[in-house]
Order: sequence, then C-alpha cells, then structure tokens
Amino acid sequence: MPATGSRTAIIGAGLAGVTCGRRLLEVGHDVTIFEKSRGIGGRAATRRSEAGTTFDHGAQYFTVRDPLFLEDVEHLAVAGLVQEWPVELMQFNSQAWQPEEAGAKKLVGSPRMPLFVRELAGELDVRLECQIGRLWRDENGWILHEQAGSQWGPFDALVLAVPAPQAVALLQDYLPIRAQLDHVQMDPCWAVMVETPISGLPHDAGFIADHPVAWFARNNSKPGRPQKEGHESWVLHASGDWTRDHLEDDAARVADGLWKDFAGTVGVDAQPVWLTAHRWRYARVVRALGQTHIWDADLALGLCGDWCIDARVEAAWLSGSSLAKEIA
Ligand SMILES: Cc1cc2nc3c(=O)[nH]c(=O)nc-3n(C[C@H](O)[C@H](O)[C@H](O)COP(=O)(O)OP(=O)(O)OC[C@H]3O[C@@H](n4cnc5c(N)ncnc54)[C@H](O)[C@@H]3O)c2cc1C
Repeated sequence: MPATGSRTAIIGAGLAGVTCGRRLLEVGHDVTIFEKSRGIGGRAATRRSEAGTTFDHGAQYFTVRDPLFLEDVEHLAVAGLVQEWPVELMQFNSQAWQPEEAGAKKLVGSPRMPLFVRELAGELDVRLECQIGRLWRDENGWILHEQAGSQWGPFDALVLAVPAPQAVALLQDYLPIRAQLDHVQMDPCWAVMVETPISGLPHDAGFIADHPVAWFARNNSKPGRPQKEGHESWVLHASGDWTRDHLEDDAARVADGLWKDFAGTVGVDAQPVWLTAHRWRYARVVRALGQTHIWDADLALGLCGDWCIDARVEAAWLSGSSLAKEIA
C-alpha cells in the first residue's frame, strides 16, 4: 500500500480527481494530476462566446447531502465561488407548465461553474493539455505515456478519475479490473448554447417531457453571469436517446434544429444572435458501478468518478474522497 511520500499520478482534473488529489496531498503524498483539456473542472464546465457571454454547458447546478461535502461547499460559498441559484424548476408536458417540487437548494459555481473545482485544486500540481494515451506498470511502478509523446513516471500509485468508457480504453492490459466496468453505462448529451434578444419566456429552467430537448435553462438567471443589456443566454440539453441517434451530426445543424424545436414547443420567437453546440460523449451515468470507487492494492491502481455512484456533482466528490481515504 502506498505510504506517505508516495508519488501518486491522477488522470483527470474533474471534481473526483481533484478531490482525491487534495486528500492525498493532505496526508503527504506527492501528487501529479494529468488533464487533457485546457482547464480544471471536467464536466463542471462553462463556455464563453466571443461577446463574453457565458454558458454552463455541462453540470447545471448541484445539491448537497453529505456533511463533509457541505463543509467544503460552505468554505467555497464564503469565498463567493459557490452561490445559490434561486430558481423554480418547471416541467412542460403536453402544452402545460407544472412546477417541480422545490427540493434541495440549487447551487452553482460562481461566476463560472468550474471555478469552485479550480479553487479546490489549490496547490496541486496539475499538468494541463496532457492527454494520457497509454499506461503500464513495470518493477519501478506506473509509467504514463502522453499522446504528444512524453513519458511520465514511475509512480507508486495511479488513479483514473475519468469517465468509465475512457478508463476502459486506458486499461487494455488490465483485463480483470477493466471487466468490473463492463456494466457501467453512460449517456451522451448534445448541449446547445444560444444568445437571443429577451424572449419573454416566463420560466428560467425546467424539463420538457418526451421531447428532443430534455432540459432548458436561462443561463443569465444564475448569479454572477454577465449578460449584454436586452439579451439573454440559453442552455439546452438534448435527451440521451435523441443524442445517441444524432451523435455524429454536424454541430451547427444540431444547434439550429434543437433551438427551433425548443422555441416552437414553448412558444418563443426570439431569433438567435449566436448559437453553437457541444457534444458530451460521456455525459451522465445511467447504470452506475454501485460502489464508491475501485482500489486494487496489489496493482496500486484506483478508479473514481461520478459513474461509480450517480450522475451528480456530489457523487464525483464522494467517490474521489472515499478512494483517497482507502489509499491513505
Ligand atoms: C450535460 C451535463 C449535464 C449535467 N447536469 C448535472 C446537474 O445538473 N447536476 C449535477 O449534479 N451533475 C450534473 N452533471 C454531472 C456532473 O457534471 C458530473 O457528475 C461531474 O462533473 C463528474 O465529475 P468527474 O470528476 O467524475 O468527471 P469529469 O468532470 O468528467 O472529469 C474527468 C476529467 O478527465 C479528463 N480526461 C479524460 N480522459 C483523459 C486522459 N486520457 N488524459 C487526461 N485527462 C483525461 C477529462 O478532460 C475531464 O476533465 C451533468 C453533466 C453533463 C455532461
């Protein structure tokens, strides 16, 4: 089992990887995180248009049940990096609007979704734009091979904090552990971002039943989102089924088609002044692992992520946290 001072590599700087890394750093591990994209946060993501309008195109909001997660969130709230989104969610069904049950407080990263994950990353050594393509273990430990050509390691322990299908691709030589992921299933999601003149729609966010657009949100109704006077910004999420059927479609056509379908259904005639679409290949887990994480002490190999538990931000935090506890 890795001891204090262990060199630990983590692949993925989403909330699970960052939470796991923080906890290991606290107990004296020498942690390096490798992240393929340009920033920290993973699916807690925000896109910005050329005009400076922001769109949370991944996680929309999160809720808190776990008292330890609440501690972290309270610190972040004091720093202004997490705020409540005082929204009343609606359900649109057969031409009629119904309010959803109020439920738990809805929280958002502020002023952009990933900033709270970046804050949690603190002093961690995160190597951005570093996509790991291959990994193997020799007598000295784990070696990581970056797609751009560099090689990193050896590391005493390795954590994969990436969506399950991406972990499967990396675990080609480790069949028994890979087999544990076989039944995990993740849905894709097309996310559409649209800026329009004021639309007049009286509801800020909600769900549409039996429709290609499963979720809509007026992004500028969230706290701290800048918005050009007289305009508003929308995020639409296509349903898993619709996205699967249109996974390889052209992004511009998806954006245009889904906006028109949404606008027609809810009776909005505002014309987009800017729109684009982002495809999440692995957006939401629909069949989870059913345990908080995986840790193989013989291989010194761990896996964590929301997909272990549930399609929720809090699940990513819990998974990363519980894996770190076991490693430490
Ligand atoms: C469209 C959408 C809507 C959602 N809505 C909500 C919501 O309203 N409420 C809620 O609670 N949750 C929501 N979620 C889920 C939430 O975003 C996730 O539960 C959470 O962000 C997952 O965190 P994670 O750390 O497990 O994974 P991720 O955030 O996916 O982090 C994994 C990281 O690994 C990196 N990576 C992958 N492969 C490699 C590699 N080979 N080398 C290096 N880096 C790699 C990725 O770039 C990524 O940064 C939503 C997600 C999506 C996509």
